[in-house]
Amino acid sequence: MASVDRDVLRDRIADRREDLVDLLGELIAQESVTGNEKPAQEVVVSRLESLGLEIDTWDPDVEELRDHPGFFETSSYADYGYEDRPNVAATRPGTGDGRSLTLSGHVDVVPVNEGEWRYDPWDATIEDGRLYGRGSNDMLGGVASMLVAVETLEDLGVELAGDLTVQTTVEEEDGGPGGVLSALERGYQPDAAIITEPSGLPNVGMASAGVMYFRVRVPGKSAHAAQGYAGVNAIGKATKLYRALDDLDRERKARISYEPAFRENPKLEGHETNLNVGTIAGGDWPSTVPSEAVLEGRIGWPPGETREEVRADVEAAVRDAAESDEWLSDHPPGIEWFGWNAAPHELDTDAEIVRLARANAEAITGGETTFTGGSAGNDERFYNRYYDIPCPSVGPRGDNIHGADEYVEIDSLVETAQTLALTAVDWCRTAE
Ligand SMILES: [Zn+2]
Repeated sequence: MASVDRDVLRDRIADRREDLVDLLGELIAQESVTGNEKPAQEVVVSRLESLGLEIDTWDPDVEELRDHPGFFETSSYADYGYEDRPNVAATRPGTGDGRSLTLSGHVDVVPVNEGEWRYDPWDATIEDGRLYGRGSNDMLGGVASMLVAVETLEDLGVELAGDLTVQTTVEEEDGGPGGVLSALERGYQPDAAIITEPSGLPNVGMASAGVMYFRVRVPGKSAHAAQGYAGVNAIGKATKLYRALDDLDRERKARISYEPAFRENPKLEGHETNLNVGTIAGGDWPSTVPSEAVLEGRIGWPPGETREEVRADVEAAVRDAAESDEWLSDHPPGIEWFGWNAAPHELDTDAEIVRLARANAEAITGGETTFTGGSAGNDERFYNRYYDIPCPSVGPRGDNIHGADEYVEIDSLVETAQTLALTAVDWCRTAE
């Protein structure tokens, strides 16, 4: 059918509820922890094959990405490389010159918190309208929903004027340059995109946080513990820097506020930015004064500051603390920035793709959209920051992402698929 009966489209998707749940269970069972994305991608490919679409799969090429301002070397790249970590894209060609749309999702999930789960994280359990499993909410649920949305459009023979691309990518949990950035650089640059991260329909995600990792090397001077007067304890010096970083965190929290973040989670109010020292290592023997200690941390912040400004804040805190210390002023600690290096983004909520997604989300759920985001890094920034392609997050409701007993609400999977299908129709338009 050229024109679309919106109710029929909604009903057909609702009829696929069981298939949607089964597909999500199959995706979860692939245990696609970052670095092991391939089995989940094979599930996606087999679904796309049954639609008869031409499928493009490719491993990210680090050399082609290296010069991009959004690139950084991820720890999963360092650990596993990019071989056998395919991205997947398939396009349903439009029949006219309508606007193109990409539906995108990451298939990697974070590791399981061993011993904390009540449910088997890799074997979906359904209870009280919820589906439990690792990745159910973040974000294999969104991936399953977008596949079902496109399958239903295909089944109904809906002819869109613009191209509709379905894309599944790797390593979002580790920063995403090998995933969405790689797809953009391969040429998948639509007029608009939707990432089906769990925005919690009818809520729509419109921002992400900046995230950077840093490492501080604190020098000391080794000596036998019994001649400790001859040494300088690097662990002791590191605690000074820890306190300085903690003070900086408090000062930044008092100064920085971002409403969309605490609209998403009221507990985030006053904590929209956060600086966490996550590891501390130092010394090699109880009876030796340690000659080095190393702190590693993460700083996250909502839209409003550049990476350079945030880096300068952290470096000044370390420098000032060092200058007030006799030893450290002569032996300054070194700071390195490594791993995650993501700038924040904020999407204009007046963008047409956002207005369409919102209208459909509200019509389908009967609820009212809240625009949320800005507390964590995500892939949407690649579209919005570097390619000027508007890209909101539109996805299901659930909880406990990255934690134990992660779940997604099954009703919201169906609602996500319906919202996506209708928004694709509205954006790409149907053929005359
Ligand atoms: Zn995610």
